[in-house]
Amino acid sequence: MKLKTITLFILMVALTACGRGREAAQIEQQLVSEGVEVSQAAEEPEVPQLPVMETSLEDYPLQTATDDVLVLVNKTHPVTRDYVADDLVTVEHCDPSVGTADTKKMRKTAADAIEQLIAGAAQDGYTLCMRTGYRSYDYQDYLFNSYAASYGEAEANTYSARPGQSEHQTGWCCDVGIPGWGLTAFDDTPEAAWVAENCWKYGFILRYPANKTDITGYIYESWHIRYVGLEVAEYITENGLTLEEYLGILD
Ligand SMILES: [Zn+2]
Repeated sequence: MKLKTITLFILMVALTACGRGREAAQIEQQLVSEGVEVSQAAEEPEVPQLPVMETSLEDYPLQTATDDVLVLVNKTHPVTRDYVADDLVTVEHCDPSVGTADTKKMRKTAADAIEQLIAGAAQDGYTLCMRTGYRSYDYQDYLFNSYAASYGEAEANTYSARPGQSEHQTGWCCDVGIPGWGLTAFDDTPEAAWVAENCWKYGFILRYPANKTDITGYIYESWHIRYVGLEVAEYITENGLTLEEYLGILD
């Protein structure tokens, strides 16, 4: 409780300094009203010291909402603040202790696919859940700033996206995990190995592979998968590519 209070205080100071006090307060209120521990909702950092690619939103054109399943959103291909898919639906198999009602959603096609993936894992004896799917611009703003307040912006940006630069805003991706476990605890588990080997069968790719950090700009994330459809997922996985390489967009 004490940690939560301290975290909240730092967060509010940081967000107020950025002129986002009101949005932060609204998100805060939403999280608390849903019984979410804020320090937990912000997910755990404990992370790394890898490639830092600093960008600012002003450097790149903003993309507006699209239904393109292959839309590329990364540090150099950001989206507008009001980018919201119109077919977000709630995924049933979520970790209830993580995020908000909104972050339990994905675009309909991806939501159906993640349910099938979770069912497929269960058939093989593994219990998986979705941690967070869709994240609004303001939620990502909250998340990034909470990391940055604790660990500094540069380090935060190796594993957390700035608002507008997060693929989560498209609704096409999600973080998976083991119910009740922390985010990075997923690494090196049989469940993570199962996801890496099988997610393409459900139309997903492992979005931030260990050997591609220079291209993606993010550390290896065993938990972050992106829906691209079966055919593309199979091709990308077979050829060991990133979405950037598949699309030929490396700038
Ligand atoms: Zn993610």
